[in-house]
Amino acid sequence: MEELKKQGCPFCNTKNLTLTEDVREIPYFGRCHLMSMSCSNCKYHKSDIEAEENKGPVKYTFTIKDKKDLNVRVVKASEGTIKIPQMKMSVEGGPNSTGYISNIEGVLRRFKRIIEDVRDNSDDAKDKKSAKNLLKKLWKVECGEQELKIVLEDKTGNSAIISDKVEVKKL
Ligand SMILES: [Zn+2]
Repeated sequence: MEELKKQGCPFCNTKNLTLTEDVREIPYFGRCHLMSMSCSNCKYHKSDIEAEENKGPVKYTFTIKDKKDLNVRVVKASEGTIKIPQMKMSVEGGPNSTGYISNIEGVLRRFKRIIEDVRDNSDDAKDKKSAKNLLKKLWKVECGEQELKIVLEDKTGNSAIISDKVEVKKL
């Protein structure tokens, strides 16, 4: 892993930014460059992923059917948008979004954190109730009792859901 310390931070203008770059080989996806920027002064953090072999704008649709599917690998670059149509939820990709390598379980955990935040902090009783229902649904999905479709779209082609059961469409 390469690391460059004491770089200028574009947000607080101090020299406290650390840049790292790492290369990872991901089976069935190829070599990826993982970049991150962290500022110890203003706590700015950003990470992203770039695939060496770019497949162009792409859309992946995967249906979680049982517990094993939670282990399916997910590569999400910053431009990758993840949607759960059945729950009308999405995490939009863009320059402020972060890139990560995880699995379906990790993706669900990220959605759960958003819903838990609504459940715990919303002033609206209706929102709280629907958050509770969504969490119940996700719990069933994690137990393999309910199917759930996950869509990952990336116009830069740096994201992927890696499984032989995934449906891949060029955009
Ligand atoms: Zn900073």
